[in-house]
Parts: sequence; structure tokens; C-alpha cells
Amino acid sequence: MVKVLLTGGSGFIAAHIVDILLQHGFDTVVTVRSDEKGKQILKAHPDASKEKLSYVIVQDVAKDGAFDEAVKSSPPFDYVLHTASPFHFNVQDPVKDFLDPAIKGTTGILKAIKAYAPTVKRVVITSSFAAIVNPDQHPKVYSEKEWNPVTWEEGLDHSKVYRASKTFAEKAAWEFVEQEKPNFDIATINPPLVFGPVVHYLNSLEAINTSNQRMRNLIRGDMKEKLAPSGTFLWVDVRDVALAHVRAIEVPEAGGERFFVTAGIFTNKDIADVIRDTHPELESKLPPKDSPSDLPKDIYGYDNSKSQNVLGIKYVPLKKTVVDTVDSLLAIGA
Ligand code: NDP
Repeated sequence: MVKVLLTGGSGFIAAHIVDILLQHGFDTVVTVRSDEKGKQILKAHPDASKEKLSYVIVQDVAKDGAFDEAVKSSPPFDYVLHTASPFHFNVQDPVKDFLDPAIKGTTGILKAIKAYAPTVKRVVITSSFAAIVNPDQHPKVYSEKEWNPVTWEEGLDHSKVYRASKTFAEKAAWEFVEQEKPNFDIATINPPLVFGPVVHYLNSLEAINTSNQRMRNLIRGDMKEKLAPSGTFLWVDVRDVALAHVRAIEVPEAGGERFFVTAGIFTNKDIADVIRDTHPELESKLPPKDSPSDLPKDIYGYDNSKSQNVLGIKYVPLKKTVVDTVDSLLAIGA
């Protein structure tokens, strides 16, 4: 059987990756920070046997040798998917809270695999559009060719540190492969804002993952007076992001490649309009119907053809994503 180690198994995106790995027949071991989260994941998959799904604890990816035991835990691993990395806006210490776990977490798992898991053929790393975007000088069209030019000093700014953490972590991964020439290759998945259904077993409305927060805020009336700025204008459905990770281990040509996975352009107004249409009972919580769109006239374009051609992703449209996300939020009490 083909065996995969998935880090950050309790995360929003990882929860969907687990489902696809199991559907595609992989034996799956997830890393989680606590026994409680591991047990919740097993309980939510009662049909998966102990061989099919298990967990191992990695409390802090930033610690030296954090993954050494995990990669040795249940050999032989064939593939590793590394999703664990902080994504929130609660910055106290930019280095400790973001840069260390993102960068050391990524190099740490690569070092551990090289040292202790010689059977691993490929590592897929969840990078981000954050490692692509050039916010001060958008290109005409974004693709895998672009890199965020952020410097370390700029990255210490609290408003830039998340994007910097993803940029430096991805760069460190490519440098590791270049310098260490390990037995495995890598691929990165670079999504922009990820929306989509939350899994009920890991979520409460208060602790909803960062990228779905605008959806929760919209339906609980936080933008009733005024739509919040969209900020980023590119999005993708979580199920497409999860599938891209799994396809990146299944498709041989994905090795050594970056994949910009995006379904296209959106604004918060587009989301509000879909909700108004599909959930009329939420109308009183939504911003006024004639709220202006904040889409810039000269909005950048995007090229997602590589993800379609190599990974075979067929993107879920915004309407379905919004409906499924809202329904999942209503199911946990929104
Ligand atoms: P979540 O916050 O839901 O998941 C993050 C996961 O990483 C959780 O399992 C979390 O564990 C774990 N984690 C964070 N810090 C540490 C640490 N120091 N040690 C051990 N585990 C840690 O976020 P997403 O699912 O949205 O994000 C997953 C990945 O996708 C991240 O790499 C993120 O940067 C990337 N991404 C996300 C996008 C989005 O819009 N959602 C867009 C682009 C990229 P715990 O839950 O126990 O804290």
C-alpha cells in the first residue's frame, strides 16, 4: 500500500486532503498537535481502519528535530504532504509566531525525511499566492513564474509577516533541494484565498479558519452597514486545493513544479450577492443590495492553465463554494 504522511492534519485544508487521500486509497498518517485532535479525526472517519488512518503528535513544527519521530513512526512512507504553518492575524512576535514555524517547519521536515525516511519519493508543500503576489507592482497576469519580492526586514512588519513567512518557507524548500540533492523531489501548491465547507468535527464558529472568516462575518451581520474591503481578489475552493495536493503525488510530471491553483477573481460583494440569492432568510444580515463593488478597473489577470493541464483540476465555481460554505457554517451554529 502507498503511504502518505500529512502534516497539520487538523487544519481546514488538511481535513479535505484526508478525505481525498482515503478516497484515492492511500494509507494516511496525519500529524496533529494533541491527542485530542488526533482522536477527533479518527472518530470522524469510522470506516477507516487503523492501517488506513492514524496520527502522530508533532506539537511544534518550529522545534529542532520536530518531525524526526513522525517520519520514523510508521515506515515506509512514500509521500509527504506538508500543510502545517500558522495562518492567522494575531501577530505578537513575527519571528516566533510566523517566520520560525513556516521556515523551520519546512526545512525541518525536509531534513527529517532526508535523514530518516529514504523511501519518500516526493514532498508536496502547501505554499501560497502569498509567495507569488507583488502587492506594490502587480504584473498584468499572475502565474507560477512570479515571486513575492518581500525582504526579510519588510517581512517583520506585522501586516506583511504572513506573506513573508510563506515566501521564505517556499524559497527555503527549493534551496534545500538544490543544495542537498535528496532522494525525493518537491512540488508546491500555491493557492490564493481558500473558501469552502468546514468540517464539523474540528470547528466552532468562533475558531473558524482565517480564510472563511469573511463568510462567517457576512452571515452573522458584521458587514450589514458596510462591506469590508475584499483585500485579495483571487480565490479557490478548498476541495480543489486538496485535490491538487493529492494529484501532485499521483502525477509524475508534477515533480519539481509550482502550481498556482486559483478559480478566478471575486469580491466580497460577489459573495454577498450569492448568499442573497441562495439564502434569502439571511437577507437581514447582509449589506445593502446596492453596495458598490471594490473591484479595481485595472485588476490583474491570472493564468491557472498549468494546474488544469498537469494536475487536471476543474475549478468549482464561486456560487457552489459559497453555498456549501454557508451551509457548513449554518450546520455549526451560524
Ligand atoms: P489552518 O489554520 O486551518 O491550519 C493550519 C494547520 O497548521 C493546523 O493544523 C495547525 O494546528 C497547524 N500548525 C500551525 N502552526 C503550527 C505549529 N507551530 N506546530 C504544529 N502545527 C502547527 O489553516 P489552513 O488549512 O487554511 O492552512 C493550511 C496551509 O495552507 C498553511 O500552510 C497556509 O499557509 C496555507 N494556505 C492557506 C490559505 C487559505 O486561504 N486558507 C491560502 C494559501 C495557503 P492547530 O490547528 O493545532 O493549531
